[in-house]
Amino acid sequence: MTSRHIYTVPYFYIIQHIPSRKLYAGSKWIKGSHPDTFMTTGGYTTSSKDVNSLIEKDGLDSFQILILLTEEECKCHVYVFETQFLTENNICIRNNWLNKHNNTRPCAAVDFTPELRKLLSEKGKQRIKDPEYRTMISEKTKEAMTPERRKIMSEKAKTRTSPRFDLNSIPRTPVSKETREKISKANSGRKFTEEHKTNLWKSRNSKHSPETIQKMKEGQRKYQLAREQQKYNLMPKPVRICPHCNLSGRGGNMTRFHFEKCKALKNV
Ligand SMILES: [Zn+2]
Repeated sequence: MTSRHIYTVPYFYIIQHIPSRKLYAGSKWIKGSHPDTFMTTGGYTTSSKDVNSLIEKDGLDSFQILILLTEEECKCHVYVFETQFLTENNICIRNNWLNKHNNTRPCAAVDFTPELRKLLSEKGKQRIKDPEYRTMISEKTKEAMTPERRKIMSEKAKTRTSPRFDLNSIPRTPVSKETREKISKANSGRKFTEEHKTNLWKSRNSKHSPETIQKMKEGQRKYQLAREQQKYNLMPKPVRICPHCNLSGRGGNMTRFHFEKCKALKNV
C-alpha cells in the first residue's frame, strides 16, 4: 500500500468480458476512488450485478480494461462524461453492452429483459436498413439544414464542454499496466474533498402526471449534469511539475507550454 492510495482519483472506464465480448462502461468518483484498485481482488469491480455475477462465474481475469480515463482526460466530471457517452450512443439498448440504462431515470425504470433489448435493437436496425426511411431522414435533414440552423449548430459545438467519445474509438487491446501506472503517477497528489451525490432523483411523490414527472426528471438530470460540471470547473487543479524545466503550476498553461511542448526540450 503506497501513500497515493489515500487520494481520490476519479475515472471513467470501459471493460470487456472476454468470453462473450460484451462491454460495460462506468465511472467512479466517490472519496477513495482510484484506478489502481479497479478490477483487482478486493478492489472495486463496478456496481453492475451482471458484471459481478460474471466475475463470480468466470473470474476477474475474464475481464479486460479497454478504456481508462481520468477526470483531466475527460475534461469534465467523470459522471457527466459517462452519462454523455451512454446517452449519445444509446448504450442501454445495445445487445453487446452490459449497461442496462443510460443514467437517466426513465430508462432505468424500464426493466430491460433480454427479449425487450433484442426487440428494440432489431427495430432500430430495421428502420436504419429500410431505404425509404433512410431517404426520408436524409431529405428531412437537408430541409432542416438552413444556413441559420447550421450556424446555431456550429456555435453549439463550440461551447461543448467535454469531448465527444464515440463507439469507434474503443480500442481492441486492453489498457496496459504501464498506462495504468502512468495515470496513477500523473494523478498522485490530486485530492477531492467533497463526496458527490448520485441519488437526487429518489423522491418519488406521484402528485404529477407521468408526462410532468418525465419532464421534471429530464430537467433534474440536466441540472444535475450542469452542477457536476460546475463543481468540476471550480475544483482546484493539481500542481504539476514540468520534468524538463522544473517549473510548477496548476493551470492550463502547464499543458500548453510544458511537458512535451516545453521550450527546454527545443534547446537540447
Ligand atoms: Zn517546461
